[in-house]
Amino acid sequence: MDCIFCKIANGETNCHKIYEDDKAMAFLDISDDFEGHTLVVPKKHIANFNESSNCQITHLIKVAKQISQHYVDLGYEGTNIVINNGEAAEQSVHHLHIHVIPRRKGDGKLYMPLHSRGTDLQKLAKKLRIK
Ligand code: 5GP
Ligand code: ZN
Repeated sequence: MDCIFCKIANGETNCHKIYEDDKAMAFLDISDDFEGHTLVVPKKHIANFNESSNCQITHLIKVAKQISQHYVDLGYEGTNIVINNGEAAEQSVHHLHIHVIPRRKGDGKLYMPLHSRGTDLQKLAKKLRIK
């Protein structure tokens, strides 16, 4: 399969590695948008968040948390933890990954500000609620 994160995970393509264990790897995002922007990936190909097993996602979250804590220990002031799940949600690489983005106050904006769309939240919650 022609998957860039599989190639990184199996050593075919270079990366700037931050962490590795038998099931997961973390490396710097190539975008260099925020200093230290890191991606946590499973070594095994899993397309997205919804396709991961509870056990697989739990392990990745644990790794993301360890890295997040490590970055704060190093002096970053906070982190964004982001999973884009599916193309509509702006997932561009279809191998599951968790973004761990170290942040400092005033270092930029991750998201464009969104404005309220005037939704009836009571009605919407009724439609979306898990029964
Ligand atoms: P997504 O948009 O799917 O949530 O995030 C994919 C991320 O992978 C992007 O932030 C992008 O910069 C990063 N990326 C894409 N190709 C490569 C690559 O070859 N190496 C690394 N290290 N990151 C990549
Ligand atoms: Zn893959």
